[in-house]
Amino acid sequence: TRPSPFLEPGSVTTADNLAIVLLSRDNLQPITLEESSGAVDGYAEGTMLNTRFGSFPHSTLLNIPWGSQVRASAVDTGSRGRKRRREATDEDTPTTGPDDEDNQPGSKGAKKAIAAASGFIHILRPTPELWTSSLPHRTQVVYTPDYSYILQRIRVVPGTRIIEAGSGSGSFTHASARAVYNGYPQAETDVKGKVFSFEFHETRYHKMQEEIEGHRLEGIVHVTHRDVYQGGFLAGGKSPQATAVFLDLPAPWEALHHLSRQRPKKLKESDKGENEEWVSPLDPKQSVHICTFSPCIEQVTRTIEEMRELGWTDIDMVEISNRRFSTIRERIGANLPAEKGNIQTPADVMEAVDRLRQINKKTKEFHKSQALSTNNSADASEMDIDTPPPTSHKSKANVKEPENEEDTKPWMHGKLYHRAEAELKTHTSYLVFATLPREWSDEDEAAAAARWPCGQ
Ligand code: SAM
Repeated sequence: TRPSPFLEPGSVTTADNLAIVLLSRDNLQPITLEESSGAVDGYAEGTMLNTRFGSFPHSTLLNIPWGSQVRASAVDTGSRGRKRRREATDEDTPTTGPDDEDNQPGSKGAKKAIAAASGFIHILRPTPELWTSSLPHRTQVVYTPDYSYILQRIRVVPGTRIIEAGSGSGSFTHASARAVYNGYPQAETDVKGKVFSFEFHETRYHKMQEEIEGHRLEGIVHVTHRDVYQGGFLAGGKSPQATAVFLDLPAPWEALHHLSRQRPKKLKESDKGENEEWVSPLDPKQSVHICTFSPCIEQVTRTIEEMRELGWTDIDMVEISNRRFSTIRERIGANLPAEKGNIQTPADVMEAVDRLRQINKKTKEFHKSQALSTNNSADASEMDIDTPPPTSHKSKANVKEPENEEDTKPWMHGKLYHRAEAELKTHTSYLVFATLPREWSDEDEAAAAARWPCGQ
């Protein structure tokens, strides 16, 4: 089987694979690319992606490099196709801002887009970040600023075996699948990085299974349908041997006793699930790092109380307050020192207009002198500032060479400004982190004593 496009996407788009369509800056749409021979759904061109920016036969999106820009096609819709296209366009009414409108030719309103059909899209390789921004929401999800921090705090690296509950919409699952990936297991006994995900809501569990298979992650992600408060964290009757745990549950403290080294004292008969003999779901030879994700401080308090009772150490709470800044360079004028004869960034609009007039005047003078020196009869006074100075050999002689290397660097021109962008979509919660030290048996003690004998 082919690997997941999230893990090994290859360099070009392929059929039966997920791709993320970038319609505009904040409008992403996941699609599975299909190869079709002959008409599909009334379209002579085969399977079609209909957007407010035009129609895109899948054949135009296949076998092209990830990141390609694709222009809309003039398609033979037929009456059925036309109806469908209009429906799709109306449903697709975007939640886009002026940036998006500017981004697409002929995009002022859906009807105009149909008529023009001259827009474009970009086709992007799936990443957990893009999936988080485009996935179908079944629950609240964990967003990128949180999961990137969580994954590094609980030390998830290629090869880690992580327990996650509940799976929800699979946002965290995809991020952790990429983080643990160190190859697909070839045999039952092959210990590779893996995500053990648990979900007790039946419909969500089935949807999650479908997505994991559709995204070819089934060798990496193992989803179990279970109430973890009762049934704990064995997968297929076996210990995941996990070293990392992430709990996004309404009552994480109810699940913690299953994450012990020894059979928990408070294990009720009804809590055994498939863990009859009681086997720990944790790797006995390594420390385990956990994160719980809770929106209320009361939940945090109860979780920490339970953690303390169960021997977790280094307990610590963090709240991520993510801010995205947009950085732009002011292009009018330049920020180079005045003594070099450079134009400074203007303070206001009037000053900017004044500067532009000066530039216009200088450009006209330049062209006039050019015309005179070459006996050129062209009417230089017709030139305006939109006409760049000629780049011919002769004209270069008249252009002042930059005095030093700094003057030629484009990033030295204009001033840098930044402003905070509108709040990033995020589900703010308190993150509780803790560590459970590795198991320490009598044999470990004896081995340590033999290696470092006391008093010698
Ligand atoms: N982290 C997920 C994501 O990034 O998409 C979102 C998780 S969602 C907020 C919480 C999920 O936990 C829900 O889907 C819910 O059905 C599930 N859940 C709640 N209690 C559970 C339990 N006792 N056992 C297993 N899953 C549970």
